[in-house]
Order: sequence, then structure tokens, then C-alpha cells
Amino acid sequence: EHEELIQYRTLPSLSADGCSVEIAGNIGKPEDVEIVINAGGDGIGLFRTEFLYMERQELPTEEEQFQAYKNVLEKMQGKPTIVRTLDIGGDKNLPYLKLADEMNPFLGYRAIRISLTQQEMFRVQLRALLRASAYGNLKIMFPMIATLDEFKMAKAILLEEKQSLTSDGYLISETLEVGMMIEIPSAAIIADLFAKEVDFFSIGTNDLIQYTLAADRMNENVSYLYQPYHPAVLRLIKNVIDAAQRQGKWVGMCGEMAADEIALPILLGFGLNEFSMSASSILKTRAHIAKLSKQQLMTHNERILLLSTSAEVEEYVKKNLLS
Ligand code: PEP
Ligand code: MG
Repeated sequence: EHEELIQYRTLPSLSADGCSVEIAGNIGKPEDVEIVINAGGDGIGLFRTEFLYMERQELPTEEEQFQAYKNVLEKMQGKPTIVRTLDIGGDKNLPYLKLADEMNPFLGYRAIRISLTQQEMFRVQLRALLRASAYGNLKIMFPMIATLDEFKMAKAILLEEKQSLTSDGYLISETLEVGMMIEIPSAAIIADLFAKEVDFFSIGTNDLIQYTLAADRMNENVSYLYQPYHPAVLRLIKNVIDAAQRQGKWVGMCGEMAADEIALPILLGFGLNEFSMSASSILKTRAHIAKLSKQQLMTHNERILLLSTSAEVEEYVKKNLLS
């Protein structure tokens, strides 16, 4: 099986009917970039920058972050590299930030909510990213966006820092894109409005599922409700993809669902542009996509969206889409 997969390392990511998609890797540490390259990833779909901030005593400096981002961008040699700004809070804590304990950490002070209120920390990260943008194909992504105002505010701060760096003589990429995670139902529902503001979306199903079903992604007692194929989740995803495409915007997915074998034919048929996953799943997913016809899958979209349970969806896929 391994032998068969290896041949896909250097093949383009194409469906059986020749439609092109991107199969990218998720990374946490800058060193992980090698693993994605070795696996033949088409890009980095998610660089979780939390790890640069963790297991240390104080915030990383602009210079340290700049070096880390530059390093990753250079190694990617022009392939798209999506870096997500700090997503701390929820299940990830930074002791030196002295965040208060909360009743509901996943519904609390986390990610962009912290960045927009502790702006100095946010600006340092943005400056490091902007400076690094000259060394590769960087796309900046904001996590946990719930309202249009949050996205507009984050982007305005980014543009302020860009101006200030430019007037200080720094070279900044002209093609830098700015996008957001879709991982909160409010954002998925008004994706049409967001699509006018962003350069791209990446759907974060790990959080989107937990917030849609109101089932903590870490709580085993409610894990039976954590359903990637729940019709509500599928309808939200379809809504996001359609909204993006109506505005000519690119949409990827960087949650675990992007590497799920049952979800794959559905997402390909829905028109998802990019699947980002842990490096170990890249070749398997490319081989799987090579056997699926996108045009054929698309003809099932309407019927899939009318199914009423997760179990029905799974059965439908096994019977009609995987053969
Ligand atoms: C997600 O929510 O799907 C996601 C990719 O982000 P994280 O798992 O880091 O919350
Ligand atoms: Mg998330």
C-alpha cells in the first residue's frame, strides 16, 4: 500500500475527471514544514502559531517570530502558506498572559477576541508576518471570527501596521492575502457578507461542529453529538462554499473533516478548493481524490443536502459515492 501511495508524492492533486484541488498540510511548529514537503503537500493550509507562544515564560519578540515565519515561507518555495494569528484560550492557555479562569472557555475570551483587545501583542505578530511576507507566498488568516466588525477591525489593524512598515522602508508582498477561519455558525450563516470582505475562507470544522451541535469537542460524554456529517454541518459548509464562489473567492478546509474518507467525496462535490490536514494523510487523500469524479459527485449535492441524519449521510456516501 505504501508503494502505491509513494507515486502520488510528485503527482498533481487531480480528480479522476481532471479537476484540480489543493491538498495542503497543517503545521504547529516551523520544523513540521519539512514533513509536509516530504509528503508532497501543495501548500500549508494552516500554521497554528500558538506553539510559538507556548512552553516559554514570555511573549516571543517580533524578531523571533519574523525568523520563524520567514523560515517556513522560504522552505515552501512560493507554495501558498496560510498562517493563522494567535488562537489562544479555549483549550490552550499561556500562563504568562494571566487569563482568568472561565465557566465556558470555548465560548469565552479566546483567539481574535484577545487579539483585538490586547492589540500590542497582535500588532507584534502582524508586523512579523508582514515583514516575512516578502519571502514567500503568505496568506494571513484570523481565527474565531463571529462578526463582520471583528474581521474589518483586524484587517484595519493589519493595514495600519503595513503602512507603518512601508514608511520605515520594509519590503512587503504586494500579493499578500487576508482571510478568515469559518468556525463559528454565525460566520457560516452570513458567509455571503463576509465573502465580499475577505480574500479567502478556511473552514475550521473542529470548532464549527462543536458550536453547531453545542457539544464540547473535548468532552467524551457528549462525543456522540460531535457529528461531522450532521445535515446542519453539511448545509453550513455548502452555504460557505457557495457564498465564496459567488464572489470568486477561494475556500479551503483545515479541520479534521478535510481528511475524513466519508466526507471527502461530499466536499469535493460541493466544490471545496483545498483540503488541509496532518501531513500523514496527504498522500492517502490525493490517491483517494484521483479515483473520484467531481462532475459526477456534484450531481448528488441536492440529494445529500436533503438527508436527515448523520447515519443516512454515511450510508448514502458508502452506497453511492465510494465504489
Ligand atoms: C478548527 O477549529 O477546525 C481548527 C482547524 O482550529 P483548531 O483545531 O486549532 O481550533
Ligand atoms: Mg478552531
